[in-house]
Amino acid sequence: VTMLKQPPISLQPLGVIRTPYQQKFAIPRQPNLVDAAYGEVVFSDTFNDPNMLRGIEQFSHLWLLFQFHKTAEQGWSPMVRPPRLGGNKKQGVLATRSTFRPNSIGMSVVQYHKVEHKNGQLSLHVKGVDLLDGTPIIDIKPYVPWADNIPQAMGGFAAQPPPTMAVYFESQCAEQLAYWQSRYPMLSKLIEQVLAQDPRPAYKAKQESDAQYGMSLYDLNIRWRVSGQANYVTSIVQHAP
Ligand code: SAM
Repeated sequence: VTMLKQPPISLQPLGVIRTPYQQKFAIPRQPNLVDAAYGEVVFSDTFNDPNMLRGIEQFSHLWLLFQFHKTAEQGWSPMVRPPRLGGNKKQGVLATRSTFRPNSIGMSVVQYHKVEHKNGQLSLHVKGVDLLDGTPIIDIKPYVPWADNIPQAMGGFAAQPPPTMAVYFESQCAEQLAYWQSRYPMLSKLIEQVLAQDPRPAYKAKQESDAQYGMSLYDLNIRWRVSGQANYVTSIVQHAP
């Protein structure tokens, strides 16, 4: 019996995750590349029940299933160009981790940090996220090492983690860094780890040198320039309100 027509499925997100990443640009391409990126899953009223998380602290890592909500409306195509292939070779969408996929579902393994239940609001803190601020979380499951970790698995075109770049803070932004660091204790680590991943778009990377870039983390605008294989942070200022 074939079932060619499937009825749609509707999902109710558990809540949303708050992260430092305010825009797609510069978000690491997979989780745990940037372990200084903390996220907080804030549960919606329907799922605001601490019993749902009982025992979760026994697990060091968790799977987050989520919706790529910012690209969902753009739909999907059968073939995509993964950045790891330089952004110009095509691959079947289901043979990639592209955001432009049917059903727009993403999955990330993140580190468990803590559960919080403050003023009646339940939240789950995690580390190492690769998700945009406000991403709807569809499900959370413990990572089970003996089942989920397959040491001999083949990694295809993404067999190795991408090479990293050196990151330096220019002396001109030392004061800004110190100031914002007191508000966001993870800031310098976060900037370093994000820029080490070389956020430049694949087609542009390694061509233009001495180009200037900007990204937004929390409410801050961070600017840097690229010279050779290194990134130099030049300014850290708050967004205009
Ligand atoms: N680990 C997940 C997976 O494999 O399903 C995500 C991988 S995907 C290549 C990671 C990229 O998704 C990030 O670099 C960011 O550009 C993008 N992204 C993260 N959150 C998103 C969201 N809510 N909507 C659209 N794009 C998002």
